[in-house]
Amino acid sequence: MQKIPLSRCFVDDEVKAAALRALESGQYILGKECQAFEGELARHAGAAQAILGSSWTMIVYVLHLAQGLRAGDEVLVPSHTAFPTMEPLIHCGARPVFVDIDESFCLDVSHLEALITPRTVGIIPVHLYGHPVDLDPVLAVAAKHHLWVLEDCAQAQGAQYKGKTVGGIAPFGAFSFFPSKNLTVLGDGGCLVTSDAATAERVRMLRNHGRKDKYHHELAGFNIRFNEIQAAIGRVMLAHLERFNANRRQIAARYHERLAGVVRVPVERPWARAVYHMYVVRCERRDELQQYLKGQGIETGIHYPVPNHRQPAVTQRFPNVPPLPRTDAAVNAILSLPIHGEMTLEAADRVCDAIAAFYGRR
Ligand SMILES: *Cc1c(COP(=O)(O)O)cnc(C)c1O
Repeated sequence: MQKIPLSRCFVDDEVKAAALRALESGQYILGKECQAFEGELARHAGAAQAILGSSWTMIVYVLHLAQGLRAGDEVLVPSHTAFPTMEPLIHCGARPVFVDIDESFCLDVSHLEALITPRTVGIIPVHLYGHPVDLDPVLAVAAKHHLWVLEDCAQAQGAQYKGKTVGGIAPFGAFSFFPSKNLTVLGDGGCLVTSDAATAERVRMLRNHGRKDKYHHELAGFNIRFNEIQAAIGRVMLAHLERFNANRRQIAARYHERLAGVVRVPVERPWARAVYHMYVVRCERRDELQQYLKGQGIETGIHYPVPNHRQPAVTQRFPNVPPLPRTDAAVNAILSLPIHGEMTLEAADRVCDAIAAFYGRR
């Protein structure tokens, strides 16, 4: 019986050739491949600039430093997201103010206004599982209260909101290239996209030891640079992204068709083009189903079993968290089914057959 993995990375001869080309170029850090990749990423997201970094977490950390984020500042963010969304905030001493989720698993935009205080400085909408947040109301609230907005696009490269690709819609967008993401560099990596030239310049300096040029350091920065081999790989992956995302959508369509009524399938808003980083259902007897599928050679996941408002790293610092009933209800029912850019419909059918068998249907 062939195993069905939760996700899988694409590697072919073109990817290998790109890595070799960079290897033999004699240039290894922030060279031609990185420059070209940054240009392509900016164009793809519809922003003026892209700045590569060693991960989403680190490029966002230096973004927050460049924005002047300080202790006592408050940032609106969903609790139902990967923990790294919180980390740069926490390192700056800022308080994550948690927003509950709606039916799409993304933050409920109707809750934002009530959570704003004189200390609020920004909002981080997370396009979770590849489904875009309803950004227009987020941007309207942000404009009214003079807040910055950072799109967390780590799971949503290529997703669209009202026909526009995510990342360049808000003033800032950040991507991750970790191996499981829709676009990977087969290692760690991330990038910031923005059309804010002044902030971009500070982020570029902070990324590279605060350099203005080789021997002039205006700021004390970091080393969160990017390398040529992974940039060369990323460029090939970006050229294939649309095909991978289209395949993910095809798998999702099959799951929708066969699983609606068996489990609670995810919604896709009318204005959304989701790219299904994860296909997350809500179901009864979740843990039992997960064990059953494992026995059938089908790998699943729970993203995420502990919401951020219950993580010790958060509660030690910020013990008073308001109730988030929809987030708490979701974490006990969610199950991520296998999906990736090259998954076959036959594999999706096997997953559907196994779930139907578990619930005693045919
Ligand atoms: C993966 C992920 C991150 C962190 O990305 P890294 O590149 O691993 O730092 C942040 N936010 C979300 C929603 C993610 O899925």
